[in-house]
Amino acid sequence: MDWPRTPVDRLQELRPPFCPRRWCRHHTRAEGFRWRKHGTYTTARGACRQRYRCLGCGSTFSRRAFSVAYWAKRPELIVPIAAGLQAGSAHRQIARTIGCAASTVTRRSAQLGRHGILLLARARAALAGRLDETVVLDHFETFELTQDLPFGVATPVGARSWFVYGIDPAPHERTGRRSAEQERRRRRRAPRPARGGYLGSTRRVLEALLPLCAPGDPLRLVGDGHPAYDRAVARHPAAPRIRLARYPNPRRGPKGSPRSADAVARDAALFPVDLLHGLLRHSLAAHRRETIAFGRRLNALVERLHLAAVWRNFVKGISERRGDPRTPAMLLGLTDRPWSWARVLGRRLFPDRERLAGVGLEIYRRDWITAELGRNTRHRAVFVY
Ligand SMILES: [Zn+2]
Repeated sequence: MDWPRTPVDRLQELRPPFCPRRWCRHHTRAEGFRWRKHGTYTTARGACRQRYRCLGCGSTFSRRAFSVAYWAKRPELIVPIAAGLQAGSAHRQIARTIGCAASTVTRRSAQLGRHGILLLARARAALAGRLDETVVLDHFETFELTQDLPFGVATPVGARSWFVYGIDPAPHERTGRRSAEQERRRRRRAPRPARGGYLGSTRRVLEALLPLCAPGDPLRLVGDGHPAYDRAVARHPAAPRIRLARYPNPRRGPKGSPRSADAVARDAALFPVDLLHGLLRHSLAAHRRETIAFGRRLNALVERLHLAAVWRNFVKGISERRGDPRTPAMLLGLTDRPWSWARVLGRRLFPDRERLAGVGLEIYRRDWITAELGRNTRHRAVFVY
């Protein structure tokens, strides 16, 4: 995967590879991109920096335009915020630890999530036609704002590499028993579009995974027998290419009794995805059981899950207990060593250049609003888009 070793902020000299402005034709097309040096400026810390001028659109920029810290007043906070988010801290805890406002952490968390969406998209693009393992699919269950607004998140995980291939939300109705008062309260909630629910989310996962298979190769999936998986596969135009193995969750218990043979087989087949879900509940404050740090917005939770997927794929070794420092991305041949947060955040990514589309782009633009909350800010920035 094409990813530089040196963060852009530490480069001695930068040759701008493309124009950082979205509206310029040299933003997505590097051919014919010409630039000139355009004076220098002095940073608040006294460093002298080069400015450049795009000869296509005439706009000027510095190397900061290619950095994740673009437009950030305190660039040094970005790596500690990323690490804190992944270490199970809530926003205000992180803010107290590193000495900034809680709203800074919230804004950075959204930006880091967007970076995660783009990095995962780039990794998938690099894997096109190279998938040679079974993918284990399951939905991670959580909720936004209140348990009246639950949603699942599709997490396709490589059976051998444990690489997280994507994150796709599936809002659904509240299930389970509830009292008459709980039901009255649920009915008063602002309506929320299901956007296809489990079926739509599974279909989108299939769309993302099929291009990764070599032409003619089948897509091998393992699922827990969820009816939406069967339906999504059966209705898909490429259904003959998809092999779905089903391991339904058998009845368990009473507590303490040994697992049945079916339960042992199911647990073995779905181990990679169960492990990921355990890691997510362990290391993200919002997804702990009975937490007061629960997420208020689906969009923000999904952004942060993308950051968690990047951490899982590129930063965390597959087994720290066994002392195996290889990361899932290394097992897939995407990278040659575990990445630090500084490396993950070494370059700014641009949605137009990564050809972001579909739900990824909607989450990027914060279009999956939580209507129950009055205020929902969309992401429509001009320069820091
Ligand atoms: Zn330009």
